[in-house]
Amino acid sequence: MKFINEVDIKGKRVLCRFDFNIPLDDNLNIADDRRIRAAVPTINYALDEGAKVIIVSHLGRPKGKVVENLRLTPAARRLSRLIDKEVIVERDCIGEDITYLINTMKPKDIVFLENLRFHKEETANDDEFARKLAAYADVYVDDAFGNAHRSHASNVGITKYVRECCAGFLVKRELNFFTNALENPRRPLVAIIGGSKVSDKLEAIANLVKIADKIIVGGGMAFTFLKSLGLEVGSSLVEDDLIRKAQDVIKTVSQSGVRFYLPVDCVIAQKREKSAVTKNVPVQEMIPNWMGLDIGPASIRLFSEVLNDARTVVWNGPMGVFEIDAFSRGTYAVARMLADSHAMTIVGGGDTDVAIQRTGENDNISYISTGGGAFLELVEGKKLPAIEALNESERNQK
Ligand code: AMP
Repeated sequence: MKFINEVDIKGKRVLCRFDFNIPLDDNLNIADDRRIRAAVPTINYALDEGAKVIIVSHLGRPKGKVVENLRLTPAARRLSRLIDKEVIVERDCIGEDITYLINTMKPKDIVFLENLRFHKEETANDDEFARKLAAYADVYVDDAFGNAHRSHASNVGITKYVRECCAGFLVKRELNFFTNALENPRRPLVAIIGGSKVSDKLEAIANLVKIADKIIVGGGMAFTFLKSLGLEVGSSLVEDDLIRKAQDVIKTVSQSGVRFYLPVDCVIAQKREKSAVTKNVPVQEMIPNWMGLDIGPASIRLFSEVLNDARTVVWNGPMGVFEIDAFSRGTYAVARMLADSHAMTIVGGGDTDVAIQRTGENDNISYISTGGGAFLELVEGKKLPAIEALNESERNQK
């Protein structure tokens, strides 16, 4: 597939799909604008080239209806401030007015269309909807990495109807880091997987067994593995239906020579609450009816040793319930280990990235992915539909 700098966009109508699915607070203030900042290089490039820039994105899950709190106006206003340029904001993303407006655009104008998901046809990858969006464009640019694991009209369907399709600089950066980390890594490659559910990440672990040198499993999901080894886990989060699969993973790992690490101790409490009384115990000394909510100090030491010689580290998912102070130490400690490491460090997944922001170490991580689900699907070894669609469109051009 091509990237935006390989396509002639001068004076052309360039439809850019971004992922401006940003967190908004109750007053509709943007809580975190990194996804908008990440789009700026592509927008600036298109403006410098004298393109007419049309922006589309989704926000939240309005399920095919207009939801006032999910309008993209805050994103458009922030973008306008970041690039110091007027942005024309539309109240819809489809309609004759919009077609007229786009046809009267001048080079370097920016039109920002309303939330694509106000139309149910977007997530249904409706052909007619894709065709209508495509009619706005001479060139289509996909820079919505966070949505690349979805097959929607604005990132998959549309590529059939715009002659010239390419990816933007954010997608380029995400794929480059990813390829360096998982396809051609400097070794040892250490993967750290945490978070709540084994079911969400089992495929990722199964794929990592084929490529990583060491795998660390922490967070709530570690307890399914610990239980599968016959340990008491109290009332910790466990997916009983996955115990057999967890055993299979441990077996495959030991046969493959990959080193596999689970927590050796944990912070436990009777409730998942701020006010709960906590204790540190070895995993062999779990108390019935207590639950493991963070990795303990011995696990932090162990994981730090494991990371010592790493040259590439990929991390997804917190080590504990880091949203509550008493259970946040393990996650923050891992964030600091990555920040201090000389390895190439790549972090993805919504929560992990929030944890890194909280430690203030974001500048010391080589790359923080903007895509939670898309990042995880790449770790699982899956192909991303939006990237496949760009590849397909390029093959059809030839
Ligand atoms: P995920 O979306 O799978 O990455 O999971 C992130 C969530 O896992 C966070 O909200 C954490 O609070 C939660 N989590 C991490 N460790 C534990 C644990 N030991 N028990 C329960 N929840 C956990």
